[in-house]
Amino acid sequence: MATYKEFHQYSIEKPDQFWTEQAKLIDWNEPFTQVCDYSRPPFAKWFVGGKTNLCYNAVDRHAAKRPNDRALIYVSTETDQETIYSFAELQREVERMAAVYKSLGVKRGDRILIYMPMIAEATFAILASARIGAIHSVVFGGFASGSLATRIDDAMPVLVVSADAGMRGGKAVPYKDLLDEAIDLAEYKPAKVLMVDRGIDKGFNKVEGRDVDYATLRAQHMDAQVPCEWMESSEPSYILYTSGTTGKPKGVQRDTGGYAVALAASMKHIYCGGEGETYFSTSDIGWVVGHSYIIYGPLIAGMATVMYEGTPLRPDPGIWWQIVEKYKVNVMFSAPTAARVLKKQDPAYMHKHDLSSLKHIFMAGEPLDQPTHEWFMHELQKPVIDNYWQTETGWPMLSAVPGVEKTPIKFGSPSFPVYGYDLRIFREDGSECEANEKGIAAVIPPLPPGCLTTVWGQDDRFVSTYFTLFKEPLVYSSFDWAIKDDDGYFTILGRTDDVINVAGHRLGTREIEEAIQNHTAIAEVAVVGVEDKLKGQVPMAFAVVKDASKVATPELVKALEKEVFATVDSILGAIGRPARVHFVTGLPKTRSGKMLRRSLQALAEGRDVGDLPTIDDISTIEQIKNLLAS
Ligand code: ATP
Ligand code: MG
Repeated sequence: MATYKEFHQYSIEKPDQFWTEQAKLIDWNEPFTQVCDYSRPPFAKWFVGGKTNLCYNAVDRHAAKRPNDRALIYVSTETDQETIYSFAELQREVERMAAVYKSLGVKRGDRILIYMPMIAEATFAILASARIGAIHSVVFGGFASGSLATRIDDAMPVLVVSADAGMRGGKAVPYKDLLDEAIDLAEYKPAKVLMVDRGIDKGFNKVEGRDVDYATLRAQHMDAQVPCEWMESSEPSYILYTSGTTGKPKGVQRDTGGYAVALAASMKHIYCGGEGETYFSTSDIGWVVGHSYIIYGPLIAGMATVMYEGTPLRPDPGIWWQIVEKYKVNVMFSAPTAARVLKKQDPAYMHKHDLSSLKHIFMAGEPLDQPTHEWFMHELQKPVIDNYWQTETGWPMLSAVPGVEKTPIKFGSPSFPVYGYDLRIFREDGSECEANEKGIAAVIPPLPPGCLTTVWGQDDRFVSTYFTLFKEPLVYSSFDWAIKDDDGYFTILGRTDDVINVAGHRLGTREIEEAIQNHTAIAEVAVVGVEDKLKGQVPMAFAVVKDASKVATPELVKALEKEVFATVDSILGAIGRPARVHFVTGLPKTRSGKMLRRSLQALAEGRDVGDLPTIDDISTIEQIKNLLAS
């Protein structure tokens, strides 16, 4: 295949041939009889009749050939632990966990809710669930009892796997207490709770008859052999709730065969990782990146995967690079919010480590602004590839695809639609945008393998949420605003509900944020649209400065605000100039590092922010409230 463009075109024009070739990257117990059944749009079934198992592809097939190669590298800077599991050891641990599940009565199709910190047992728990054909639902450990309770009620798990506590920045997070509260709050009561006792919360509460100890049960199944259940390709493997940035989270349901093929193909074409190499994703198992690119993707490709419990700054801001050097990491995956954290540190921490093993670093989760993209790539001297995707899709929708062609990187752009995705930009009337015209990013269905097959238990919600943007054509709406340039490079401009309408001009909040980021004093910024009698809406900015002394007096604040106005004027013109720039010490974000723009908007318009169950630091809201009141 000569160029990426041709590769993409082939995937869209001849999807059956294209995906049949990709399907060879995984092992099937029984071959599929039909590539895609799209007889009931927009529901798609991939690799119909094929039987396979995610755990088999991630673990067993490698353990059979390369038992002593590294599979899981567990690093915790919170408990000072480093443990390496070979593929054979990983398989043994997964079989023990699977045997424990069976002894607790878990059957194929049952749900297992996993509420765990970043410990190796969480990986065993996930893979063991896939092994026996149960459906896992991992809930991010940072979520408190309310969010957890809603997910328990929605997924109705027969079993919850948890641990006494997690650690974050040296402080214990009482997982078991939060779990007990959640089960109290929930209407549905799981029958059993399997507890991994890390010995952090010594006196954690044990509920008679419900809570069981993992170490005790594991000891009874040391030599267990639990065969993989052969799952029909479209049988569900897991449920994962979206991050909840814009409201009530949706239970994304993932299949088995389509997901395995999509991940295997992405490891080859996008991430360029293979057997014997090492992958390091700094995400958390509670997010989609953790599912696809801490656990399943790298392991399916036969790579070793690094699972890291800790922050990017402890014991010092060089910790990630130390891990890269020590384990000769070849592929890294991180998030823009982390890059912006590192940007505030001395780059010497990065430079004192040998990063020669590293081929690429991928970034996803929110817009990677141009200045940060450029800074990161310059400091690392490695290609930094922006990935745009969603919990729903499970793997990238927009990305460079260096395994096919090393196309030049444009800062601030996640490059092109990924093969398999017929992704286009539409106007609000359903017609397609021209180049350089802003519109809504949408995918012409069927969605490729690996994407959500429905919303758990709510087929109607799947259709009404994602497929009713227009009457015609039938498209999957991303709810993100995008633009494509003359060379075919895409840029995501923000969520559709983040668009600001200033006197009839439509601006993405991201465009203004990006302009403000160009001022060297600014570390981070969020822009929201605020109601205005005259103009409809005006942009308002909330910015964090790198050096607090720059905003120490009201005079300095005024002066810096003026400078920021001038920066925006020079990049976007006066139309993008915010009505005000408020300087704050922190911005309200979700636990996954996404900006809660809606709550900023509510504050700026004097409305109630409502419940914020996914917020990371509630004091950011208080600070802004006080600032706006004064
Ligand atoms: P919810 O759907 O519950 O509101 P969420 O959309 O934040 O939560 P995710 O699926 O984790 O949940 O996030 C996907 C969204 O994150 C995308 O739709 C997009 O808005 C944003 N995003 C992800 N990656 C990028 C990227 N590379 N560039 C720009 N935006 C991105
Ligand atoms: Mg979303």
